[in-house]
Amino acid sequence: MQLRTDCKNGKKLSALGFGCMRFPTSGGRIDVDASEKLILSAVQRGVNYLDTAYAYNGNEAALGEILARNPGLRDKVNIATKLPIPRCQTQDDFDTYLSRSLERLGTDRVDYYLIHNVTSVGAWERLEELGIKEWARRQKEAGRIGQIGFSYHGCEADFPTLLDSYDWDFCQIQYNYMNEHYQAGTAGLKAAAERGIPVIIMEPLLGGKLASELPAAAQTVLEQANISTDPVRLALRWVWNHPEVTLVLSGMNAMQQLDQNIETANAALPCSLTAEEARAIEIARAFIAERYKVPCTGCGYCLPCPKGVNIPMCFAAYNTSFAHGWYQGMHQYIAASGAMEGKAHFASDCVQCGACQKKCPQHIDIPKELISVKRRLQVPGLPSIVRLGTRFMTR
Ligand code: SF4
Ligand code: SF4
Repeated sequence: MQLRTDCKNGKKLSALGFGCMRFPTSGGRIDVDASEKLILSAVQRGVNYLDTAYAYNGNEAALGEILARNPGLRDKVNIATKLPIPRCQTQDDFDTYLSRSLERLGTDRVDYYLIHNVTSVGAWERLEELGIKEWARRQKEAGRIGQIGFSYHGCEADFPTLLDSYDWDFCQIQYNYMNEHYQAGTAGLKAAAERGIPVIIMEPLLGGKLASELPAAAQTVLEQANISTDPVRLALRWVWNHPEVTLVLSGMNAMQQLDQNIETANAALPCSLTAEEARAIEIARAFIAERYKVPCTGCGYCLPCPKGVNIPMCFAAYNTSFAHGWYQGMHQYIAASGAMEGKAHFASDCVQCGACQKKCPQHIDIPKELISVKRRLQVPGLPSIVRLGTRFMTR
């Protein structure tokens, strides 16, 4: 496994980190046995950084179970988890959530602790007023936290101010070849590196858009240009090509993905992207920019919607209708409604309450975009027909 150095503490971190958020599931619950197989295989091949969060439903507990089942595993890995800041109203809440994370994980220390999803300087200032700096110092002294950092989904302009607002041990940003000028972007990556702050990368595949969802037309052009490269490998190689990147997180839920990512990580040294690969990225970037209308990554932070609208799947269907054709998008939209599970909710069920919008790290105007989804994919009478069909099928 390629190792990169955490320039703050000198640790050697695997270039590939395991994003536990997308652990495999079965019947709507995390499949701990399948997740365990993936984790053990990853660690055996050199992955030494596992990322989870308090807010990922059942995720810390699943990882804790895997660690408990495998004596010795804990000391082979760095564990990263995150403080859920919207729930923190007093300094005592910081203690409460860190303690719960430690308990769920069955460990006495978090190696990399992140303030989860800081979206603005104002959000950080609120935590400062609650005394987070002093609290973090005490936790580090007590050995409950190794390194302290933050994950970021705010704008490019706020990022340098946040970097300078505390003596951060690391930061985590969304970065991929479509997001060079989005959120922290390339400028943010370089700003962190200039300050000697290690950078962990999330969303290197933009929620899958740069992988299997790469528009068919882009793939065809790549083939016609005799550029034979796999979209996932290409996207990951682009991120690792930046010497400022310390580690790239990937949410792997199948052994095949793990195999491929490990193979890619081993070869993707800084500044190793070929001219042909760079050209392939230019082609893919142009196609994607034209066809993906809503920059939803499928993270699900906006859920649940009180009206049952499956927001990420609605946007996935909408984007599919441009990238792969209207019929395919329509098919996906009906699946997104939940009709197959005996209930059906459509974009038109949105009552514009706005509850989802403030939770979206991509700052998508969800109610407005759902109107676009409805206009494009919801042919007149569709909800009635689908609901009638659902009633018939579930009799
Ligand atoms: S604005 Fe619409 S989609 Fe968002 S939570 Fe409210 S009803 Fe659901
Ligand atoms: S709309 Fe926003 S919060 Fe919801 S899944 Fe998409 S990116 Fe995540």
